[in-house]
Amino acid sequence: MEGLNELLEELERMYERTPKHVDGSVLGSMTTWPHPVGVLAFLKFMHVNGGDPETFDVVSECERGLVEGVGKLYGASAGIHTSGGTESNILALFVARRTRKGGNNVVVAPSTVHVSIEKACELMGCRLVKVPADPLGPVDAGLLERYVREHSPFAVVITAGTTEAGAVDPVEEAAELAEKYGFHLHVDAAYGGLIIPFLRKHGLLDVDLRVGRGVASLSVDMHKLGGAPIPSGLLFFEDDELLEAACFRAAYMPSGRICGLLGTRPGGAVVASYFTWRAVGVSGYENNALRLMELAKALHDGLRTIEGIEAFPYTLPILVFRSKLMDPEELARELRNRGLHLYRAPSVGGLRVVLMPHHQRKHVDRLLKLLAEIHQRSPGNLGGSTPAL
Ligand SMILES: *Cc1c(COP(=O)(O)O)cnc(C)c1O
Repeated sequence: MEGLNELLEELERMYERTPKHVDGSVLGSMTTWPHPVGVLAFLKFMHVNGGDPETFDVVSECERGLVEGVGKLYGASAGIHTSGGTESNILALFVARRTRKGGNNVVVAPSTVHVSIEKACELMGCRLVKVPADPLGPVDAGLLERYVREHSPFAVVITAGTTEAGAVDPVEEAAELAEKYGFHLHVDAAYGGLIIPFLRKHGLLDVDLRVGRGVASLSVDMHKLGGAPIPSGLLFFEDDELLEAACFRAAYMPSGRICGLLGTRPGGAVVASYFTWRAVGVSGYENNALRLMELAKALHDGLRTIEGIEAFPYTLPILVFRSKLMDPEELARELRNRGLHLYRAPSVGGLRVVLMPHHQRKHVDRLLKLLAEIHQRSPGNLGGSTPAL
């Protein structure tokens, strides 16, 4: 047995050296600093198994509240709490195949689709046919239809807020295709789900994120723009029948069944998400959406003034840019040496910034200042000896 004091000290050292969203150093991740009410709720219900809503009825109460509250944004009333976008996407395709009997084994999705759909297809032995799409833009609806006609998929997945660039696929057009051809349309709004409805309300984006009328399922992450602790996602279904197909009989469980892909799971995450949702409130999410778009504009404007940087157009607060002087690995390293963590935008050989609720104007300004500094010097002069900020 190790001494408690030593263990606590080591824990503290590990915590200290771990990047913290609130200091603005985490600039590429879609995760955020969890809301304090959510953190408290999580700690309090750490012992609760989310897979056993009979023994721990707080889980079903909070899940119902979440599905009802968040679901209103998309006109959805059936849904389930998951561990995040990956579980939601795998579960959505699983339900699609379980309920669309007799179809073939093909899933059609734009080439920008999230890697979790590849996982789902490989797990289920499905064939994923990718529709070529601009890596930074939405898929072309006409091309999507051509692929649907050619491959007769049992499911199509489109994305509202792609991972690399925040592009939004044409939801309404895809929903019309789903009604016409009868496939299960899953909309992956893991990132975009808690910003797009508010941008639409303010006339900043014309996309109707909804469930029903062609959209069979939709996934939204609470641990991204929802501000809840990890792991937390929601998967909405068009009706209770689809939701039912996400459940298995498990005679030993008090409820006789177990829903979703996990067994024992963090019940604290369900309670935390529900209380975060209520603490932030719809108006809080709405304000956040508008604020992040303003920050995105400031960052985009700033990037365009830096010589040697090319900034790409954006739809949601995900900014993709490329250095004309340095390769992305080198630039990412230079920034990391100065304490800033960005992600790659591989399709354009650049980097990306995901603006999240914890970001402030000063974080954007610091990034711009560092990028300008790095680009003022010739690439040959850049060494590892640059002092950290
Ligand atoms: C984040 C994300 C996922 C995966 O979600 P996790 O919560 O990381 O499992 C899937 N699709 C999209 C579009 C995402 O942004």
